[in-house]
Amino acid sequence: MPTSPPHLLVIEDEYDIAALLRLHLSELPAHVDVAPDGPSGLAAALGGPFDAIVLDLRLPGLSGLDICRELRSHGRRVPVLMLTARAAELDRVLGLELGADDYVTKPFSVLELKARVRALLRRAALSAAPADAPSRLASAELSIDRVRRRAWLGTQELVLTPREFDLLWHFMGHPGRAFTRAELLEQVWGYGHDGYDHTVNSHINRLRAKLGDDRSESRFIHTVWGVGYRFEVAEAS
Ligand code: CA
Repeated sequence: MPTSPPHLLVIEDEYDIAALLRLHLSELPAHVDVAPDGPSGLAAALGGPFDAIVLDLRLPGLSGLDICRELRSHGRRVPVLMLTARAAELDRVLGLELGADDYVTKPFSVLELKARVRALLRRAALSAAPADAPSRLASAELSIDRVRRRAWLGTQELVLTPREFDLLWHFMGHPGRAFTRAELLEQVWGYGHDGYDHTVNSHINRLRAKLGDDRSESRFIHTVWGVGYRFEVAEAS
């Protein structure tokens, strides 16, 4: 865990909300920078480093989606918590798979938001593995590189979202072990929460699709009925 307080960036154009976030996130404790529009937010984010970014979706100049896309295209893996005003926007955020790590819909509870940011920071600290941990894992034709954040199936590189990457890394690090959805939420997402089973299910389904896994005859990620999921390479039939 870092010894100095984490450095957060809040990109939010509504002055009152930005001030509220600065006040409460400072109590984590954390250093909090605020950017009031899209272009200054992106410049600040790229100028980082930050331990996490709280990013409003609707911003003047550049949207939160644009900023998230830019950050990821620059290889920045900083955890992003997206603020969205409506459920309809949430569908877009999730549907576009832009690499936000979590989201909160407005109006939000400050306590809930603080808990989410804390969880993001904790997860980031957990995934910053010790220096003697392996940086690369391989299982049959599947290989994954934690440092470069890239994964391959044979010679084909897989296009994974940050969460899908973390899930695959976690599974490949524990072959044969069955995980409950709650364990995956805790260990991969970084928070324990009821009612998020569908989040795990949908990420697993997308990951399976990218691995070419058939639901009824999985080669990599297997459903363990009544428990959750297990990673194990099945012999090709
Ligand atoms: Ca806004």
